[in-house]
Amino acid sequence: MNYEMLVNKENLLTSDYVPESMEEIHEPMGSKLDETYVNRLDKEAYANFKQMQNDALKEGYEIFIDSSYRPYEYQERLFNAIMLEKGIDHATKYVAPPGGSEHQTGLAIDIIFRRNGEMIEEQKEDDPEIMWLFANAHKYGFILRYPKGKEAVTGFNFEPWHFRYVGRVLAQEIYQNGLTLEEYHRQKPARR
Ligand SMILES: [Zn+2]
Repeated sequence: MNYEMLVNKENLLTSDYVPESMEEIHEPMGSKLDETYVNRLDKEAYANFKQMQNDALKEGYEIFIDSSYRPYEYQERLFNAIMLEKGIDHATKYVAPPGGSEHQTGLAIDIIFRRNGEMIEEQKEDDPEIMWLFANAHKYGFILRYPKGKEAVTGFNFEPWHFRYVGRVLAQEIYQNGLTLEEYHRQKPARR
């Protein structure tokens, strides 16, 4: 598995790309795309997530994976539905095109959390659970993929709930230097 892989609106995965290293995950709060859908995530990413989840719990934060792997066809349906409803400009701006969603890599997760027994549907940057993740996710190999102020670089709006597994070494480097994955890939040839 290439944990550095860059997927965005310009770097698309093919329609037949399915990650090989995934396992089924059974997060109690995961949302389903449809009746038959089973959440799946890269094995190494999930092992690291479980550690992160345990350590968050020690601080009193109950975090879960809401959404992980999504097949190409799902993104295609989603994109087409938004395009039909709101037009091509809106769809292009707000929705990843087919092949352009990081969720197809099996390395991306959307986080939800539970507080006082209640699921919190909307994740905001000043939620303590999210703030804990901002400060600690890199220790487990995850980066905040669409940071605030980097919209022009990533092509996506700020998403405080979306994290991407890149492995611990790279996550540390990206975190310390305040980079996005796009900036890391751009700088890479100059540094190596
Ligand atoms: Zn996401």
